[in-house]
Amino acid sequence: MRNFFRGVRKRIGKLDAGLLREQYELIADEADFLETLFATNSEGIIVLDDQGSAIKSNPAAKALLGMEPEDAVNDLAVPLGKASKKELAITYPDEKILEMRTLPLKSGGTLVYLRDMTAERKRSEEELRLGATKAVRDLASGVAHEIANPLNAISLNLQLLEREIPDNESIKTCRKQILRLESILREFLQALRPSRPNLAPGSIADPLKNCLATLRNEIEERRISVTLDIPSALPSVAIDKSQFEQVYFNIIKNALEATKCGGHLWVEVTSDDNDAIVRIKDDGEGIAPEQLIHLFEPYRTTKEKGNGLGLMISARIIRDHGGTICAESKQDSGTTFTIRIPRLEKRIRRLKG
Ligand code: ADP
Ligand code: MG
Repeated sequence: MRNFFRGVRKRIGKLDAGLLREQYELIADEADFLETLFATNSEGIIVLDDQGSAIKSNPAAKALLGMEPEDAVNDLAVPLGKASKKELAITYPDEKILEMRTLPLKSGGTLVYLRDMTAERKRSEEELRLGATKAVRDLASGVAHEIANPLNAISLNLQLLEREIPDNESIKTCRKQILRLESILREFLQALRPSRPNLAPGSIADPLKNCLATLRNEIEERRISVTLDIPSALPSVAIDKSQFEQVYFNIIKNALEATKCGGHLWVEVTSDDNDAIVRIKDDGEGIAPEQLIHLFEPYRTTKEKGNGLGLMISARIIRDHGGTICAESKQDSGTTFTIRIPRLEKRIRRLKG
């Protein structure tokens, strides 16, 4: 199309009215064709201007969102001018899981793609449940709890021992391995037996402190500097603190694993009119675009000893809280995860409305 325009521009002086008309009709046909593709695409497409207002959208976008895209863009919290991917749960007019991808436009503004992932997510969770071998399921359901308790006791005693014999490499190694075992157990249990969150009013920041305390040794050993920005006053949200501790653990652990020794981790908590927001940012290796597309899917791992369950579980927990998780990444310069949970008063209003 661009070559075609260049050709016409070069020869425009030589074109007579008949030829111009012919070229005009060609362009009109092409525009019709592209308009039809846009209008009939089953993916929702929204074009946003620099300020984030919707300037064009197709019928699929309206159908997926259940309202005019112009009215919905604020709630989508689109990262403007950036490539990103996130999943969000829509409760009106029916319950749906949507995938939202964004791309910056060369001409300024942002392109937003929306896809209905409800069936796919249900299927992959179903496959996960059915596909897990009996041995793993038995381990997860019966034995895991039995293993978790003694592990906890060993870990506590090691902490006491560490106070008596500080800086002992063997103790440190044992604690690290126990942490690993605990996280494997937790991830399998959560993946195979998702539990409904036990919601109570609280702050989105509370479970962060426990999680950072659990990971303190690893952070110190890798000499990773942590910048924490948590305001003292935060809006209340409906939260299951222990599930959220797991979410923070999964995301921060990934960030540590992606960051070289001496790297940096930023954890920032804020809020806006609708949500309490947590941003977890690292300056690690980043995520390749082809991998970003499959983020939050089970068994997608790039690690030799990874299981690819952490992000899937985290996304599910956040969805069960009525929230969203969004990942933005640039290869070699780091990754940012943004978690949003509706403020308590908004959630109540949304449930009533
Ligand atoms: P696992 O950690 O077992 O691989 P996860 O579900 O926690 O499984 O993560 C899936 C994949 O997402 C990781 O293997 C990694 O490739 C990528 N990833 C997640 N977080 C980050 C991050 N902060 N930086 C770079 N890659 C990441
Ligand atoms: Mg992980």
